Amino acid sequence: MTRDAVKTFVADVAAELAEIDDAGLTKRERELTTAQSAHIATPGGDALNFCANNYLGLANEPSIVAAAREALDTWGFGMASVRFICGTQTQHRKLEESIADYLGMSDAILFSSCFDANGGLFEVFFGPEDAIVSDALNHASLIDGIRLTKAKRLRYANADMGQLRARLQEAKDAGARRIGIVTDGVFSMDGYYAPLEEICDLADEFGAIVIVDDSHATGFVGEHGRGTHELLGVMDRVDIITGTLGKALGGASGGFVAGQREVVDLLRQRARPYLFSNAVAPSVVAGSLRAVELARTADDARAQLKRNTQLFRSLMADAGFEILPGSHPITAVMFPGPDGARLATQIADAMLERGVYVIAFSYPVVPKGKARIRVQLSAGHSEADVRACVQAFIDARDAVGDEH
Ligand SMILES: *Cc1c(COP(=O)(O)O)cnc(C)c1O
Repeated sequence: MTRDAVKTFVADVAAELAEIDDAGLTKRERELTTAQSAHIATPGGDALNFCANNYLGLANEPSIVAAAREALDTWGFGMASVRFICGTQTQHRKLEESIADYLGMSDAILFSSCFDANGGLFEVFFGPEDAIVSDALNHASLIDGIRLTKAKRLRYANADMGQLRARLQEAKDAGARRIGIVTDGVFSMDGYYAPLEEICDLADEFGAIVIVDDSHATGFVGEHGRGTHELLGVMDRVDIITGTLGKALGGASGGFVAGQREVVDLLRQRARPYLFSNAVAPSVVAGSLRAVELARTADDARAQLKRNTQLFRSLMADAGFEILPGSHPITAVMFPGPDGARLATQIADAMLERGVYVIAFSYPVVPKGKARIRVQLSAGHSEADVRACVQAFIDARDAVGDEH
């Protein structure tokens, strides 16, 4: 009886997998046979990597690797405890202070990931008497974290300040005790910045708290790489920042929430992923500490990243590709229309054959008819790498065009 139930269950799961595959939506892992870098190898051959979040090229930076290696000897392999029992080493606190200081906040708290940070943040501060107003394109972890609250949930179309105002008015009219505005600092499919100045103005007008997830910004956006609040001139107007150690800051793992001391203190008392999940591993803490230290003075890397981004964007425009406007290293190369999804995938495949690794995105990850190849520049790329990527786009377009 029980066995039959399991057979049916597994058969249903297999049918769902087949559906995903029939729709051409199966995600396959491409295994690297090297460390993460601008230059990688796969079993299929060497490739230039243009799809990592390795914005500063720190994922395999020697002094970070050395710091992590040394930490294995000094601090051991694992913590085998949550933070508040016996899982806090002096370096965990040091990393939190370093992140807070860098971002211009009074304190910060580490989580195992930014997904966990966002998963634990909202229910601590927002209850049934409160309202959360969030951008429709926010990251999945923000959406999930907000869903865990009993607050009134309101959504505005991506970066639409007229709608944000209307939702804030709605929240106010409903008598919300506390109102939070939640946005990604950078929208990861488009490379667009959130209009933080306007958001902060509206927050002032409606007495709302501003919460920004800056995962695609911390370490490289803004003059000193502090993030979108630095770039957009609202350093002292964003109340809570969440971010990741898994992208520009070395790319290992871990996330954080930074804000005023009391806010962070309450998270230490109440945030469930913090209370009930293991502490970040010692080697990751040590490597990340070094990464934050490097990011503070990474002016050269940020300048290189900016040059690479500008060069790529201008060469691609010259070659007749449609790219979304902007200045972020995320550059969306658009393949609009009903045939776009297939075309984007074919071109990405043809590029990999030519030694350039990029990823095509289509519905449901992006809206129907807005398929794209998302290119991510890194300070680890040389000018020659960027030119090779553009050439691969051109060659792949020609090759795919010839097949039709
Ligand atoms: C990558 C990302 C996350 C998840 O970060 P992890 O540390 O990998 O869990 C959360 N929010 C945004 C906006 C991201 O881009």
